Amino acid sequence: MRPYTLIAPAKINLYLEIIGDRPDGYHELVMVMQSVSLADVVQLRANGTDRFRVSCDHPQVPTDASNLAYRAAKQMAEQFPEAFRRFGGADLSIQKHIPVGAGLAGGSTDAAAVLVGLDLMWNLGLTQEEIQELGAQLGSDVPFCVTGGTAIATGRGEQLSPLPPLDRLYVVLAKYRSLSVSTPWAYQAYRQQFSQTYVRDDHSLEGRRQRVHSGPMVTAISHQDGEAIGKLLHNDLEKVVLPAYPPVKQLRQAMADLSKLGGMMSGSGPTVFALAETPAEAANIHQAIRTRFADPDLEIWTAQFCATGIKPVES
Ligand code: ATP
Repeated sequence: MRPYTLIAPAKINLYLEIIGDRPDGYHELVMVMQSVSLADVVQLRANGTDRFRVSCDHPQVPTDASNLAYRAAKQMAEQFPEAFRRFGGADLSIQKHIPVGAGLAGGSTDAAAVLVGLDLMWNLGLTQEEIQELGAQLGSDVPFCVTGGTAIATGRGEQLSPLPPLDRLYVVLAKYRSLSVSTPWAYQAYRQQFSQTYVRDDHSLEGRRQRVHSGPMVTAISHQDGEAIGKLLHNDLEKVVLPAYPPVKQLRQAMADLSKLGGMMSGSGPTVFALAETPAEAANIHQAIRTRFADPDLEIWTAQFCATGIKPVES
């Protein structure tokens, strides 16, 4: 059986609004998600055993049963026991390019790659929706990572409405290597400080979702209007993460100042990004950040918006 190699892109949030609490303990969100070309490479290779084994070139990524890619494989084996019996286990090797614990959905996109890869390897012929449903049980960002592109995500992030592709923009991303923000901490801190703003009845929740669906960010995206998109960037989690992490706040401010379009923190951070309309503009921002923050702990990447999620590499 031939190995399968998949490109697994990171995501950024162009918009993240927390609108309420959910009975399952998660938050009700309205987000606009965007795939970017900064991507992990995930390879699946049948290993002739009845087990899945994970390897990864990044020391911070667990290779045991807590790895989201491993959990994705286990879930496929449980859902499709006949295919698992027939084809057996696989070695899952992750080449990590997406920073870990960064608010860029690195673990989620690896899990999405394993779902897509095993579907191919086991000849299951699942639809994207079926793969997304399996992904939703692993994590809120996994369904988006399967299809990628540009989309509105509601619920806890797993309910998706695709938007027209936005693949002509560039993004400069920066993160302090030694700094991670716990996503559960960020949401809990937000709840502690802002739960009085939460919308509680179904009618109002739907109103808040509709406000984004028919709002200016979606219009700006349909017109591929980078300037308007930059002005409409919004992330509620900045209200708790930036005051708690002054270096992230400074970096975010510099990104916003240096970019003609705008900058923001992605997800629960601590990665911050700046938008650019051309590769030259992105290169200038990249260089200016490097010069202004001459800190070897600071990692900077330039990437392009992309219109796809998990993509098998033809061999
Ligand atoms: P999100 O944006 O979805 O909140 P994130 O980008 O902030 O996610 P991840 O990079 O997915 O965070 O990692 C969060 C934690 O999950 C890591 O600290 C790591 O221990 C664990 N983890 C499990 N599997 C993976 C994986 N395949 N890649 C990266 N981290 C993983």
